[in-house]
Amino acid sequence: MFMIPMLRMNDGRAIPQVGFGAGFATPDGPEPSSAQVVELFPAAIEAGYRLFDTAQVYGNEEGFGEAISKGGIPREELFITSKLATSAHGREKALMAFDESMRRLRLEVLDLYLIHWPLPMFDEYVETWKALVELQTSGRVRSIGVSNFTEKHLERLVEETGVVPAVNQVELNPEFPQRELRTFHAEHGILTEAWGPLGQGRGLLEKPAVTRLAKEKGKSAAQIVLRWHIQVGNVVIPKSLQPSRLRENVNIFDFELEAREMEQLATLEGERSGPDPEAFEKRF
Ligand code: NAD
Repeated sequence: MFMIPMLRMNDGRAIPQVGFGAGFATPDGPEPSSAQVVELFPAAIEAGYRLFDTAQVYGNEEGFGEAISKGGIPREELFITSKLATSAHGREKALMAFDESMRRLRLEVLDLYLIHWPLPMFDEYVETWKALVELQTSGRVRSIGVSNFTEKHLERLVEETGVVPAVNQVELNPEFPQRELRTFHAEHGILTEAWGPLGQGRGLLEKPAVTRLAKEKGKSAAQIVLRWHIQVGNVVIPKSLQPSRLRENVNIFDFELEAREMEQLATLEGERSGPDPEAFEKRF
């Protein structure tokens, strides 16, 4: 069986380039419940997934805890990500939220822990980041990162703590490629992880620039878009609750997009579909 490539993070650790997204409902489907996670986990492992992306707010950490503890795959082979909810900013709350996530996940050590959103209007994310640094120093989490941070938020973390996040998980796809942010990440050694990589069922996979290439290459539209991510160097965590699509979404390592094909995808234009990180203030 093929292996999903690993990318190196700035802390020396490696992360699989494709993972299983267990996130929020999208227009064409709900987030997986814990029961669905338990059911889908063996199919995901069988398809080659080792990276699993959950969060406190997704309500399915318990499902991962159960699926992982059932065994079948050595813990060292898995890469589990979770995220700190926006209601848990601040040192004490962050440390407590982490403990609760770990209890639900039934894990001793987490592979990657992210601050889910910065909520800059409350000015707590630097303190929260210091709590994540503490967790890493104490060995409870291997790698630490952020999600939905802009250049401005990242700069502040680095200036005030000297610790550069290993990963920034942001909304990103060929219609919303976040070119400036990716350049900033590259300059600072931050890995870009794309959420909403397939455009969240909002029409990206039906765009002619994508379907034309799919036809020419004999691949599905989702495979074309995911291959684009791989070639720009992103980690991707597409979400699907269908085993056949889980397989399809990792079967993207037997073909390449040529430079002119990448350029065709660069002509796509679109907007951010999620909230603006600077303005997002919801506590969950
Ligand atoms: P996505 O772009 O992965 O789209 C998911 C939708 O695409 C699903 O509803 C599914 O129906 C469809 N799909 C999946 N595979 C397909 C295929 N092969 N062919 C056709 N359609 C297919 O969007 P997403 O779920 O929002 O993002 C992926 C993951 O990113 C989430 O599950 C979650 O883990 C993470 N996420 C993080 C944040 C954040 O704030 N950090 C926000 C949203 C999502």
